[in-house]
Amino acid sequence: MNILIVEDEKSLVLEVYEFLSKEGFTVENAHTKRSAEEKILVNNYDFILLDLGLPDGDGFDLLRTLKNIKNREDAVIILTARGSVDDRISGLEQGADDYLAKPFSLNELLARIHAITRRKHKLESNEIAIKGFKINIQNRTIYYNDDRINLTKKEFEIFNYLVLNKKRVISRTNLTEHVWGDILEINSDSNFVDVHVKNLRKKLAQFAPIDWFETVRSIGYRINI
Ligand code: CA
Repeated sequence: MNILIVEDEKSLVLEVYEFLSKEGFTVENAHTKRSAEEKILVNNYDFILLDLGLPDGDGFDLLRTLKNIKNREDAVIILTARGSVDDRISGLEQGADDYLAKPFSLNELLARIHAITRRKHKLESNEIAIKGFKINIQNRTIYYNDDRINLTKKEFEIFNYLVLNKKRVISRTNLTEHVWGDILEINSDSNFVDVHVKNLRKKLAQFAPIDWFETVRSIGYRINI
């Protein structure tokens, strides 16, 4: 999953960036409202962490911009030192999904991210069980019965994303964005997504003969299970 941090306090950005990267997220940052707008208009994010006090404007303006974008999939968590109840209510009313007052604990941020993911995908816990496979979205592990399956970081991310969005066709571009990040920086002609899916198929097939991925011609992949 990919996360955009919109925050001008560079030491905080670095701290959050390092923590979330270690937790397996693809993280990007924007230090100004303008650069955040540019990124939001081009890319789709799973999460946007939004500071309200930006050097060139108010985070609430960005929230309004986001609201006008069709088919958004991102969840917005407001990060702010402004602890007033009014700001909190205003943020939630304007479409933010959650709110953290600075200073906040990184583990709490992570817990909120996972809680939003569970809510969004209607999961009862951090573990998804399908046909003997157990995918833990928090620990980022996958087991078949008691056997741990060793996936690379990207293979796990691809599988996790397709499982969370099962029954939906996920385009290669969409997968690239959510697993690798900013699509502008990636050569879109390459077939690296297919290569990863092929390896993933091979690894999963060693445990059970399940045809996980339907290849949707010239678009991408879908899990129908
Ligand atoms: Ca700020």
